[in-house]
Amino acid sequence: MEKVRLQKFMADAGVASRRKSEELIAKGHVKVNNKVVTEMGVKVDHSDKIEVDGMPLETEKKRYILMYKPRGVISAVTDNKDRKVVTDLLEDDVRERVYPIGRLDYDTSGLLLLTNDGEFANHLMHPRYHVDKSYVAKIEGVLTTEEIKHLEKGIKLKGYTSARAKVTVMSKDKKKHTSLVRIIIHEGHNHQVKNMFDAVGHKVEKLSRERYDFLTLEGLVSGQYRDLTRQEVAELK
Ligand code: URA
Repeated sequence: MEKVRLQKFMADAGVASRRKSEELIAKGHVKVNNKVVTEMGVKVDHSDKIEVDGMPLETEKKRYILMYKPRGVISAVTDNKDRKVVTDLLEDDVRERVYPIGRLDYDTSGLLLLTNDGEFANHLMHPRYHVDKSYVAKIEGVLTTEEIKHLEKGIKLKGYTSARAKVTVMSKDKKKHTSLVRIIIHEGHNHQVKNMFDAVGHKVEKLSRERYDFLTLEGLVSGQYRDLTRQEVAELK
């Protein structure tokens, strides 16, 4: 967003009319980045901290987006190697500065939530908030009953032991020597699913997240997104 005059910024945020906002500024009611501003020339944008009578300005509507992330896209808002990031997939209907809640690997597809509500994001990412996350993995080879038990009970990985999981073999391709496996976990460590399969000797060839708590990708194709309904947001809070 381009910088705009403080009084316009305030008016756009619904504080008061532009004229009234000018009065508030002149009378010393407005602070920009912790300093009282009384002249009119100051220009601001969303990166500035603006307070009116000590109250921070809420300048953006809260947005909650469910995206079907394609493979080959970074779960971030910028990338130092200039690769495509998930916010590049958003159209003009999303002007708020949303960011992903947690991440899916570059080569993982599936359900990703984005928001500009920091409290909401922190709540969902807190380890105490244990929601089911369901993944479908195409793995090399075929799991033995022992390996399934091991995955389900918890596996010692670098720095932590995975919590209980649910593993279901969906299909096996004996010719290609691969299987399709559904795994439901509650945590969200980096590369967790890949590391869990690796630990029992099966490389993950493809991974997709099909469900996050009660949310699914129904109605979306890869690259598409939708707003969460008010009810969905309330249920996740
Ligand atoms: N586990 C992984 O290994 N990768 C993901 O993207 C998500 C979970």
